[in-house]
Amino acid sequence: MGQPARILEQDPTENFRDMIHDEVDKWVDQIIDDVFEDGKAPTIMELSKLFSETKQKFFGACFQSLIEQKYAGLLEQEYASCPQCGKVCKKRRGNIKELVTMQGPSVLKRPWFYCVDCSYGFTPLDKALEISRKKYQFDVQKKSIRTAAEVPFSSGSELFAELTDHSVSDHFMHDTFEQVGAHARLADVIPNREEITARIQEANDSSWRPVLIVASDGAHVPTRPKAKRNEKRGQGRWQEAKGFRIYLLGKDRIVHIASWHQIQNEEQFGEDLSFAASRIPQDDLRIGLLGDGADWLWKHMVACFPKGRQILDYFHCAEHIHKVAKLQYGEKSQKCLEWVESTITRLYYAEVDNVIWGLQRMKPRDNVAKEETRKLIGYLQNNRERIHYRGDRIGGYPIGSGGIESANKFICHTRMKRSGAWWVKETGNEMLRIRCAIYNGTYDRVFDKYKSACLH
Ligand SMILES: [Zn+2]
Repeated sequence: MGQPARILEQDPTENFRDMIHDEVDKWVDQIIDDVFEDGKAPTIMELSKLFSETKQKFFGACFQSLIEQKYAGLLEQEYASCPQCGKVCKKRRGNIKELVTMQGPSVLKRPWFYCVDCSYGFTPLDKALEISRKKYQFDVQKKSIRTAAEVPFSSGSELFAELTDHSVSDHFMHDTFEQVGAHARLADVIPNREEITARIQEANDSSWRPVLIVASDGAHVPTRPKAKRNEKRGQGRWQEAKGFRIYLLGKDRIVHIASWHQIQNEEQFGEDLSFAASRIPQDDLRIGLLGDGADWLWKHMVACFPKGRQILDYFHCAEHIHKVAKLQYGEKSQKCLEWVESTITRLYYAEVDNVIWGLQRMKPRDNVAKEETRKLIGYLQNNRERIHYRGDRIGGYPIGSGGIESANKFICHTRMKRSGAWWVKETGNEMLRIRCAIYNGTYDRVFDKYKSACLH
């Protein structure tokens, strides 16, 4: 009776253990040479640097050994079925794939197959391991894009190298960023209904029914037309990124739900807001709508959240009052301060008609003051129903859109308005979408969308 052939093969885990031990020995040799030489007394900084310089090679080799053992079958495969027609194809050749993961560089020699009928080449190992066609694998791509979302591409690539010891070029970052950005769609950037429901529960308290706040506004982003390489760049211009932030006011904290900003027209803004609204179970919530005086935003907020309480942003309103006071009475004059205080107090108590009446009877100091006063009257008339700050306070609603202002600063300004940065609209929107995804906690999902698209 012969022994089954299987027993003669070595256990892959033992193989792996042996290979790692070999790698450890190689690494230890390298360290010994550098550290234990006579007269050497390396400091923490020097030792840490030595580890940084050597660990990638070490881990990359371990990583490679692990794959070689775990996927030995796929590496030695002689025949494979064509994924398109199912025909069995014979291995054409061993194909070298150099790859870099966050662990370091590895090299895999894996079989490559070609189906003549389909004119289709394929590598089963790549499919099983989800190997990216790029040299830098998805783990590196994901982190480098996370970096590029915070700082300009050029310093992003420097920073990434500094912190991770992987040098990815700014071109790689930029190209990959655009590819991921193309997969960052509204439906994935906005949390899904289950996630939103969970966040609402988080804000719920037996003694407090949370208020859902929808705050919209526009921010200007510097844009330029797309130009080909070596072509003169066209004239830049500022375009409005329209956006909203939806959050919950819990008893003692704010629970973020979703942010969305895009350089886009009013109609598209309305469609996007409506999509976000469709994911929110509105029935059990108190809802507050916050915005400045811009008509476009009210039109859509009211359509998407019909039972929302409309609140004119207090700070925006106060700004208008200050402007008129300054022109009429002179900056920081006693009269100016008194008038501002009494006007704001009256608005606080929702006495809008009183304020309008007073403005209409005011004798303007000059034509500039006259024009600003006229504008203020129009502004108050347009927003009359949205000014009731005392009632808002009592009801637990916010009166100022600090929530969206800070989201705007975080999402738009910090990355979009760096000096000298002019954005092609598409890239700018990709940047905004990825930043919103990070802020909304949906970046993982967006990245997975991109990854799946690359693999299929
Ligand atoms: Zn085929």
